[in-house]
Amino acid sequence: ARAELMKMEKMEIVSQLAASISHEIRNPLTVVKGFIQLLQTGPLPRETEERYIRIALEELERAEAIIRDYLTFAKPAPKETEPIDVAIQLQKVLQMIAPMAHMHSVSLSSSLDHGIVIGNVQYFQQCFLNLFKNSIEAMPNGGTLRVTAEHRGTAVVITVSDNGVGMTKEQVRRYGEPYFSTKEKGTGLGAMVAVKIIEQMGGTWNIESAVQKGTTLTITLPASRVQPPTAERNAPG
Ligand code: ADP
Ligand code: MG
Repeated sequence: ARAELMKMEKMEIVSQLAASISHEIRNPLTVVKGFIQLLQTGPLPRETEERYIRIALEELERAEAIIRDYLTFAKPAPKETEPIDVAIQLQKVLQMIAPMAHMHSVSLSSSLDHGIVIGNVQYFQQCFLNLFKNSIEAMPNGGTLRVTAEHRGTAVVITVSDNGVGMTKEQVRRYGEPYFSTKEKGTGLGAMVAVKIIEQMGGTWNIESAVQKGTTLTITLPASRVQPPTAERNAPG
């Protein structure tokens, strides 16, 4: 019965994420629709037209950013949960963000144990993509994004650290709160999605940050002894 209950809770969070994304996307789409309808009503001064078009494009960009924070890895029919080799999946996400890191003069450093956790691979990747992106964005003048994974008895401990702009106490307190963003074009959803995914996997997280020094996120996930399917281990990319 307990397992059933836990499964239900997991399902609930999954459908919550799905429900919130459609909600989040609807707002910018409504704005775009409104401005296109205004453009349709008749001749407007060129300047007004240009302004409406700019707003519509900005809102579309926002919708795109929201989709990136929620659904970069979404598949039509995601498996619910499976054993995940954290080293393999973290390596994949690191590879994926390598071009972005390069563009920001950020070097990547990692030390990854082959710990196994139970979760949904797509969500796991989404979680760390969001955390890595935030770290890179916190280092506008370059730096190092360091990722470690350590198998410690019944837990797998993952750390994500950067030597970026860091956060104030107040910002740390608000970390993971929906819509909290200090960025001009931020969604304020990336950290919330990451935190929800960690909690959904039965994990805990802790954040340590100092302004102009950097930020370290420590994520502790329950370790599993089930081996992931070999196909997953050998999967390219
Ligand atoms: P967004 O990245 O769109 O602003 P997030 O939810 O991903 O939204 O992050 C929320 C806020 O948390 C960011 O705007 C930033 O202020 C802060 N933040 C998150 N990660 C870091 C980090 N590694 N270093 C400094 N600040 C961070
Ligand atoms: Mg972000």
